[in-house]
Amino acid sequence: MKSLAITIESVRKAYGSYVALDDVSLDIQAGEFLTLLGPSGSGKTTLLMALAGFVRPDAGKLLLGDRDITRLPPNKRDIGIVFQNYALFPHMNVLANVAYPLFLRKMPRAEARQRALDTLARVQLDGLAERNIAALSGGQRQRVALARAIVFEPRVMLMDEPLSALDKNLRETMQYEIRRLHDDLGITTIYVTHDQREALIMSDRIAVMNCGRIQQIDTPQRIYDRPSTRFVAEFMGEANIVAPGSVRRIDSAEASGETLMVRAESFHLDAKLVGRDGIVLEGTLRAKAFRGENWLLTLTLDGGQDVLVCIPAALAGGCAGLATGQRVTAYAPATKVHPLPGASA
Ligand code: ADP
Ligand code: MG
Repeated sequence: MKSLAITIESVRKAYGSYVALDDVSLDIQAGEFLTLLGPSGSGKTTLLMALAGFVRPDAGKLLLGDRDITRLPPNKRDIGIVFQNYALFPHMNVLANVAYPLFLRKMPRAEARQRALDTLARVQLDGLAERNIAALSGGQRQRVALARAIVFEPRVMLMDEPLSALDKNLRETMQYEIRRLHDDLGITTIYVTHDQREALIMSDRIAVMNCGRIQQIDTPQRIYDRPSTRFVAEFMGEANIVAPGSVRRIDSAEASGETLMVRAESFHLDAKLVGRDGIVLEGTLRAKAFRGENWLLTLTLDGGQDVLVCIPAALAGGCAGLATGQRVTAYAPATKVHPLPGASA
């Protein structure tokens, strides 16, 4: 199966006076797994539906390979789609649902049946071909939707929050299965989610969206460690945005005066570390919460700002003994202190 690059060029879409996509540009490499990540209402579905052909952009261009598909009808685009609500046909059995795209493409019956059975095996649904959709669990329905999207071997796959209806354990299993399926087929995939962990686990690159705009496109690690905006920093995890004046820098470098971003889990309470390159802050322990794998501490700095500090439970013998109201010193190494250009704390 040959995969295809996708180019999105200055795409704009407004609903009345509301701008759902504001000049969005994005290049997706052939074979890449790219995730659109953002809060509800940020324009993820609108962008996906524009690619699928169900939303017509007001301006801009969409290319598959070097072919302009901006005005092509959905069924001519060679794109497989998996929606959030599965959109399966409830009156057909599993096999008929999966074979449906082949039937639309006029494949001979026997060949379509065999191809559908092979695809069912690929998503581990062998043996359920004759089952009614109503008699399937949520996870099984999701696999049927997946099989139906890949059965005609599209060169691009679009998935809109396909796992959001599943419970946590099944969702995590399916995250790995979808990624493995992508790797096996080499199919260029655009995946939509509002769940930052899911995006981090599954993606080659993540495009973070907010208010109809792409805020940052990068690898999961860079998005997490080196966010380019305050929005990305806070959306991706527990981030502290601190003014340079509220911390003590003990690195040799001249303090740049820039606002700093430090993730909660980058802090240590070990006094032996203080003195190495990095930052030190002192505050009063205002709250502590045990979260199973770690403790979350809230320190109030003398300037009044709250800072979140996350300490692994395995290292946190000391945390159980900490009492609210006491003074706490926290240290973060220089490698974990990221300047946020243009943000004010
Ligand atoms: P997301 O998928 O990120 O939650 P959407 O792309 O569905 O966001 O929606 C982006 C914005 O556009 C939302 O504010 C939504 O209310 C609005 N919107 C989406 N579709 C329509 C429509 N058909 N008519 C009017 N507004 C719409
Ligand atoms: Mg959506």
